[in-house]
Amino acid sequence: APGGGPHVGQDPLAVLAEVFGYASFRGDQEAIVRQIVDGGDAVVLMPTGGGKSICYQIPALVREGTGVVLSPLVALMHDQVAALQLAGVRAAALNSAMSIEDRREVERAYRAGELDVLYLAPERLSAPGTVQLLEQGRIALFAIDEAHCVSQWGHDFRPDYLRLGALAERWPDVPRIALTATATPETHREITERLHLENARHFVSSFDRPNIRYRIVSKQNARSQLIAFIQGEHSGDAGIVYALSRKRVEQTAAALRDAGIDAVAYHAGLPAHERLDAQTRFLREDGVVVVATIAFGMGIDKPDVRFVAHIDLPKSIEGYYQETGRAGRDGLPSQAWLAYGLQDVVQQRQMIESGDGDAATRANQTRHLNQMLSLCEGVECRRRFLIRYFGQDAPEACGNCDVCLDPPKLWDATTPAQMLLSTVIRTQRERNRTYAAGQHIDVLRGVGSERVTQMRLDELSTWGIGKEWSVAQWRGLVRHLLAVGLLEARGEWGVLAPTDAAKPVLRGDEQVMMREEVVAKAGSGRSARG
Ligand code: ADP
Ligand code: ZN
Repeated sequence: APGGGPHVGQDPLAVLAEVFGYASFRGDQEAIVRQIVDGGDAVVLMPTGGGKSICYQIPALVREGTGVVLSPLVALMHDQVAALQLAGVRAAALNSAMSIEDRREVERAYRAGELDVLYLAPERLSAPGTVQLLEQGRIALFAIDEAHCVSQWGHDFRPDYLRLGALAERWPDVPRIALTATATPETHREITERLHLENARHFVSSFDRPNIRYRIVSKQNARSQLIAFIQGEHSGDAGIVYALSRKRVEQTAAALRDAGIDAVAYHAGLPAHERLDAQTRFLREDGVVVVATIAFGMGIDKPDVRFVAHIDLPKSIEGYYQETGRAGRDGLPSQAWLAYGLQDVVQQRQMIESGDGDAATRANQTRHLNQMLSLCEGVECRRRFLIRYFGQDAPEACGNCDVCLDPPKLWDATTPAQMLLSTVIRTQRERNRTYAAGQHIDVLRGVGSERVTQMRLDELSTWGIGKEWSVAQWRGLVRHLLAVGLLEARGEWGVLAPTDAAKPVLRGDEQVMMREEVVAKAGSGRSARG
């Protein structure tokens, strides 16, 4: 009969064993599968590696008809379909990259009820004919993967997702399941509203990944710090290193190889065969380190990744958590290591300013960056910060992050912060010009670079009042003030300006407390208490 696949009506646990080879469900999987098999809707928030796919694949097999999976990751569809086919599942994908003939064949198979699972990119739904096609077959369920893409305030908004709300009206009797690994309470609410999942059951797994040790270090020389980290703690381990640009990916991979580490590069600009080769080596061989842009990792399932390192600041906590979540899926001790410095803050603020987004987009990107910075500059347990960011309760201290293991000493930086802020204000007011961090630091240190003397900055009253500090120490302070929002970096040149929040500090009504190590380690043996 059309729609009558070999597993229709079977017990989900039997399908789990027979098709996927697993003995038991994990976490909420069983309850989620039951909810969909029984015809209800579900919203599933589960961290990366939690096992979301099973939650819709099994109901797709057990219910009559085809499970339609909406996924934005066209590049991954092929792999997902191939993996399902290997397990004997009748799976296919429809996307614009396919030939007309292939598309026709998939459409025929769907109409004839010969498909258990059909992957579609959300934008296909607005292509002419797709809705008519879907109406000509029988739909077991709709699965909306990466459901956070519906959130305008999230880090990965995709306008096509907004159309998915219409599925509820057109197919009111077809169960729908929305899944994501990156939901804050706000995004959770948006998913529920915009996808019309008012009657859904909600399954929120714990976002804690207790086996991952979070560490954030101050960036001096990212490449040599990374090499020391890998050689010292992860020699021979598989790992992923994330960098922001293609160039940095290639340079870093080369530097790791020079240091005797088995590293491969991966980014979207490489020829397909090189990317496939890098991915295959990473998956099949032991101890390969992939240096990649964020293009790498989605849908890649390697259980024994021992570390994820970031040598550039991620753009959001959601992104950071998703990327670090690729470490330690096997539950064994693993590390998430991040190096960040002043340059990251300035560069990302500039990228946001010069980007092509509108004011709302820029404000949103700034909000995400600021949250990331509060994690980095913060003195709270990293895990607690992360878990609470995702709206869940967490103990005061986890015992397995850099803050818990080596509590940062706090240091009262009010006086140098006042020096820095008033230098910024004076150069603006008295010289009627604006300057980037480097010039302010020259003024504070009384160093007469050409531009400084040319602009007669050496006549300012703050000239040379910060001699005792090294450039690195001042940069550490600038970074902190930017991170906590006392300073802003504006425009293409990263011009510094104080915010309103700086006023109470200048008046002496508020203190600036920062991590001692930032100013202590940055110096060249000099006292940090200048
Ligand atoms: P997510 O999409 O949530 O990141 P996946 O669906 O890719 O996670 O699953 C992560 C890994 O866990 C995969 O290797 C998957 O096969 C495995 N897995 C999922 N469910 C189970 C289970 N019940 N028992 C054992 N392994 C499972
Ligand atoms: Zn901790």
